[in-house]
Amino acid sequence: MSNISLLPQVRGFLQREHSSFIDGRQQPADNPHYLEVIDPASDQVISRVAEACVHTVDDAVASSRRGFAQWSQAAPAVRASVLLKLADLIEQHREELAQLETCQSGKLINISRNFEVDQAAHFLRYYAGWATKLSGQTLTPSLPSFNGERYTAFTLREPVGVVVGIVPWNFSTMIALWKLGSALVTGCSIIIKPSEFTPLTILRIAELAIDAGLPAGALNVVTGGGMAGKALIEHPGTDKVSFTGSVPTGLAVGQSAMAANLTRTTLELGGKNAAGFLRDVALSKAVDGIIEAGFLHSGQICAAAERFYVHRSQIEAVTGALSERLAKLKIGSPLDETSEFGPVSNKQHQARLGALFAKARSENSQIIHGGRLLEGPGCYVEPTVILANSVNDSLLNEETFGPVATFLPYDDEEQLIALMNDSPYGLSASLWTNDLSKALRLVPQVQAGTVWVNMHTLLDPAVPFGGVKASGIGREFGGAFIEDYTELKSVMIRY
Ligand code: NDP
Repeated sequence: MSNISLLPQVRGFLQREHSSFIDGRQQPADNPHYLEVIDPASDQVISRVAEACVHTVDDAVASSRRGFAQWSQAAPAVRASVLLKLADLIEQHREELAQLETCQSGKLINISRNFEVDQAAHFLRYYAGWATKLSGQTLTPSLPSFNGERYTAFTLREPVGVVVGIVPWNFSTMIALWKLGSALVTGCSIIIKPSEFTPLTILRIAELAIDAGLPAGALNVVTGGGMAGKALIEHPGTDKVSFTGSVPTGLAVGQSAMAANLTRTTLELGGKNAAGFLRDVALSKAVDGIIEAGFLHSGQICAAAERFYVHRSQIEAVTGALSERLAKLKIGSPLDETSEFGPVSNKQHQARLGALFAKARSENSQIIHGGRLLEGPGCYVEPTVILANSVNDSLLNEETFGPVATFLPYDDEEQLIALMNDSPYGLSASLWTNDLSKALRLVPQVQAGTVWVNMHTLLDPAVPFGGVKASGIGREFGGAFIEDYTELKSVMIRY
């Protein structure tokens, strides 16, 4: 094992005691409670972050209201140039941010570099482009006039105000930047509440945002657990919540927001995404596809597939070849550039995966490969392949959010689509076939916010993303996010 050396600035940042970032800097902690940030590759405490208390939340909201008053008046071209500058700074600090991210989340260093940093910068530039393209409509009122008077009307798109962006631990940089980009480009201010497991990279990005010219208060970061998130949502000074996380927390967030102030809510939630392989797909292509769909970042991707449907005549060959490939993966430290498979992100998650493996065994699901936690230190889990007995097996129904692919055979395409849709969730799905005409006929039948053909998991800022059924409300990316971050004001004039 040969780990890359941490940059001096990364070591320095980890050694600092951190706290919420409000009004352009980290504020002295007014709460003696600290959260410990733990490296999931070693189980070592690598940094400490003060937990926000109720006063911190009040201060952050007051600052964000001032930030909103100033930033919402900035010219669109100014908003665009600040976001573009921030994207440049993020790229200039690529290695520093990637190392911080890997230390706190256990993500393979190359995933941190290529996705958390590079992709995040691309997304930010895409959002920046929208700043100068937001517009309303000119309308002709429809009813006849009473006495010959005339009417005209138009709509204005106005920023909703102070946004609360609540972020999970799996892509703590990229998801925070999706929310930050959407809010800032529309003229909102934003308070990011990172996961207590992964607060560090966004604290560093908040410093870079000030260097990029963002006024103090337009971006604040409140560090703390779920209660800090709840306090932000229920605060009378916040106007919108953009939440990414699990379905149960999403339901609680939606209820808190509705009860607080009918606060607008976007929910990007989890699911149990399906991948269906038609009979014409070659064995090696199917195995590559399953690894892309289910095992990237150890399956800790909301859009990853967890249910795999393969024709009955091919399922033994596919699961066998997949197991052989997984057995060859080099499991190791995420700071070792040659590792192909790292730890999962935290101890609780590792323990939950252990409980799911036990459940699979108790239900006599067939564990074809893996199915064990690896000896410590570190939160390592074997990549796992399971063959379910029936649609009722727990591993075909409960989200694992881990490196676990559960298979079920199908007999014909009608049954394949019915199985893929047999879930209360619908974030993403994929169909794999060489017959594009067949794929295009099947796509409308699949119940999911995104359906990929011959690919899975790749997100693009130009293509809207979000869930149907219990996987969420609202869309990120494309032009779709604008609806969620702006209010439509109608203006009607008599003349
Ligand atoms: P959680 O739902 O546990 O937490 C998400 C965020 O919500 C964290 O910042 C958490 O804080 C915070 N939170 C917890 N309780 C509350 C509350 N009552 N009010 C407000 N905020 C709260 O998700 P995980 O972090 O465990 O992430 C994994 C889940 O996220 C998976 O289910 C996955 O599918 C989903 N996900 C969905 C995505 C999508 O786009 N659809 C993308 C990525 C992940 P803290 O961690 O500090 O407790």
